[in-house]
Amino acid sequence: MSKIFNFSAGPAMLPAEVMLQAQEEFLQWNGTGVSVMEFSHRDPAYVKMAQEAEQDLRELLNVPDDYHVLFLQGGGRGQFSAVPQNIAAKTDTVDYLDCGTWSGYAIREAEKYVSQVNVVGAAEQTEQGKRIQPASEWQLSNNARYFHYCPNETVDGIAIHDIPDVQAPIVADMSSNILSAPLDVSRFGVIYAGAQKNIGPSGFAIAIVKKSLLGQPQPEVSSIMDYQLQAKDNSMYNTPNTFAWYLSGLVFKWLKRQGGLAGIGELNQRKASALYDYVDASDFYRNEVHPDYRSIMNVPFQLADDELDKHFLEQAHQAGLVGLKGHRFVGGMRASLYNAMPYEGVEALIDFMREFERTHG
Ligand code: PLP
Repeated sequence: MSKIFNFSAGPAMLPAEVMLQAQEEFLQWNGTGVSVMEFSHRDPAYVKMAQEAEQDLRELLNVPDDYHVLFLQGGGRGQFSAVPQNIAAKTDTVDYLDCGTWSGYAIREAEKYVSQVNVVGAAEQTEQGKRIQPASEWQLSNNARYFHYCPNETVDGIAIHDIPDVQAPIVADMSSNILSAPLDVSRFGVIYAGAQKNIGPSGFAIAIVKKSLLGQPQPEVSSIMDYQLQAKDNSMYNTPNTFAWYLSGLVFKWLKRQGGLAGIGELNQRKASALYDYVDASDFYRNEVHPDYRSIMNVPFQLADDELDKHFLEQAHQAGLVGLKGHRFVGGMRASLYNAMPYEGVEALIDFMREFERTHG
């Protein structure tokens, strides 16, 4: 079979090396003759692996000691309710920047738990394309318990590249850009991410939480979403997703071998630039996001005639380029270029796009 490049927005492509290692170890983990999925999470060998995964993640992101690193369940959306329940009281005010589709879901979830959810700004259309209102226009509260934003909106392909300069502790939904470039964790109160793009299997989630933000959670918070309880039990208050934790650990080791976040960040920039440069130079394809707000991870693009979308997708699939269909809210195409996508995959996509333009343009 010829090489397949999977551009899906998530669950997404994982590094080939990791998949091969997982395949080899599937039935025989750690030389035991037992699958890693059959191992008790209390077994010393498993605990050692789990702790090493946390340590590797801490090293990759240079996480300061005054932060918990939690391995949770319930994916990215689970954190939409965990955040307000753990770090705000019902009567608090919280600020949310409405960056796009996922921010909207986060806002609606927060409204269930906090009485004042203040939407400080939103995405907007400009002559140069879609962007997020600049910080100078945000209507920030002066007493916000936290400020929430999504630095990379997966559906819309919109990103905020600079960490916002706000007074309140910053909470970031990094589901689709975590570990994609170096990051100053100390600027954040909470960073969370569903795992299925840059980390591992779906359903799993990571939360990096500044300890000083945790006081009393809201009384109704479910125990498995209680950050303090999970931290006390090393994220094993209930049985964790042992396989996802294991696989994520392999991904962290793979990332270290790629030169850590500096190495992968440089590669990610090169991949995205190559695709945006090609789209910008073509009259047949277009990207509708303002150049300063373009995502490095998710590149949406439209064809000159959307009647051709179906043919594009079919032929791309035949050429081994899968998962390119844009989100149903946006239409067109979307190429997700997460960490595991090699440069070669982007080159193959551009070659295919060029040939499709030649034959259909
Ligand atoms: N936040 C962002 C930015 C996402 O892209 C996604 C899913 O794709 C989610 C949250 C929701 O994650 P999950 O489906 O794991 O709940």
